[in-house]
Amino acid sequence: MMKRVSLLITVPVNPRPVAPMEGLIGGPRYTRLRAEADEFRRGLGGRCIWNINSTATGGGVAEMLQALVGYVCDLDVPVRWTVIGGDPDFFAITKRLHNRIHGTAGDGGPLGAAEAEHYAGVLAANAGELLGEIRPGDLVLLHDPQTAGLAAPLVAAGATVVWRCHIGVDWEDDTTRAAWEFLRPYLTAAHGHVFSRSKYVPSWVPAGAASIIPPSIDPFAPKNQELDRDTVRAILATIGVLDGGTPTKPGRYVRGDGTAGEVTGTATVVGERLPGPDDPVVVQVSRWDRLKDMAGVLRGFADHVAPAGPGYLMLVGPEVAEVSDDPEGAAVYAECVAQWRELPAAVRARALLVTLPLDDVDENAAMVNAVQRHAAVIAQKSLAEGFGLTVAEGMWKRRPLVASAVGGIQDQVVDGTGILLADPGDLGAFGAAVRGLLDDPDRADRMGRAAHSHVHETFLGDRHLLRYAELFGKLLSRTGSR
Ligand code: UDP
Repeated sequence: MMKRVSLLITVPVNPRPVAPMEGLIGGPRYTRLRAEADEFRRGLGGRCIWNINSTATGGGVAEMLQALVGYVCDLDVPVRWTVIGGDPDFFAITKRLHNRIHGTAGDGGPLGAAEAEHYAGVLAANAGELLGEIRPGDLVLLHDPQTAGLAAPLVAAGATVVWRCHIGVDWEDDTTRAAWEFLRPYLTAAHGHVFSRSKYVPSWVPAGAASIIPPSIDPFAPKNQELDRDTVRAILATIGVLDGGTPTKPGRYVRGDGTAGEVTGTATVVGERLPGPDDPVVVQVSRWDRLKDMAGVLRGFADHVAPAGPGYLMLVGPEVAEVSDDPEGAAVYAECVAQWRELPAAVRARALLVTLPLDDVDENAAMVNAVQRHAAVIAQKSLAEGFGLTVAEGMWKRRPLVASAVGGIQDQVVDGTGILLADPGDLGAFGAAVRGLLDDPDRADRMGRAAHSHVHETFLGDRHLLRYAELFGKLLSRTGSR
């Protein structure tokens, strides 16, 4: 339940038990997390950490906050999560900023004085409400362009403010510079700036002034929790993507709030034949977004994977509603269906387009989990990618990845943990990499195990929290709040 107080929404923060983490990350890492949390709590002296973003559900940022804020709460560090409000014009402007930071024009609209005035006005109204609650010395973590305009008023009110950008590209051009020029005046007030990778730091941020903190995945979330083989098969048979006969057990999982869940919904499947439980399946899980290049995966599979040996392809994404707030999603999905229809019959029978229902977020996550766990090879043939959570998710499940060397994927698929494609448009190279792994399950296993270890070492929540604690500790001493 959420409480709406005019513009702001307070997202209820439920503790997410940290204790189960010990079995996973081991005693020393767990002890360090607890010890750092204790020290950090003492340094905070009763002050609070605020997370401020623009949505409580949907999207990678909200998913990460659900987990991290819950863990921080369980670690007894005072933490709050607030969602700002705005009108459609405000969100049209921030979506424009989002697209341009990614180097695309988006709706092509302006980012001039009128937009700046509107943007600042909406955030001033949000700041007005926040100032009634945030106290001097509190630590505020602002997420993404939607909240950048809060930095100056919150700093003026005595808060220590960090702006955390979850998006970016490895290069700059006129499009990205236009977005940064718009945001820059709002951001200079912040005490710290955080990016997911060093190449995303815009050139106007002084060298060394930005912190690099990559995202993380939650190993206990429905998306990533351990599922045994029969549960995976049961979920896949239930949703209708596996020809497994009647499942031997129900597709049970643990919901985000710790209660028991069972997958009962079904996917929408475009396909002619379902793989059997032992058929190798190549999977790409993505939104239906051109930059994810689902069409290229289908073409690469048809031309270079299927003709050379056995195996199926599943392209898996969220359902695209008839009236969708993401019109591009519906168009991209329709293009993939049209392309699938044109495939030669023999290949068409081995490729499936799968859309997963979104009405129950936990159940959708459990479906994604099962699909990823079942995959013989996971593809992420994106043309651009901020971080690519799907990559870490697949690697965590010990799957070998064939992924494009773009954006944050390059930080994840490191030596021996998968195959990086230097040119995402080279379908022959993509096909050869996928085929090679399908034909060499031992190598695929080795890569999958190395992939799991890399995520275990680098991209779990304790690492993420410690990096924040280190940054916040430094800033609190610098701002004299400690
Ligand atoms: N995802 C999902 N259901 C779907 C398709 C995707 O939950 O049907 C999730 C996926 O598991 C991942 C997120 O959406 O957690 C996508 O994040 P990513 O960083 O890979 O790409 P983005 O969509 O943010 O560009």
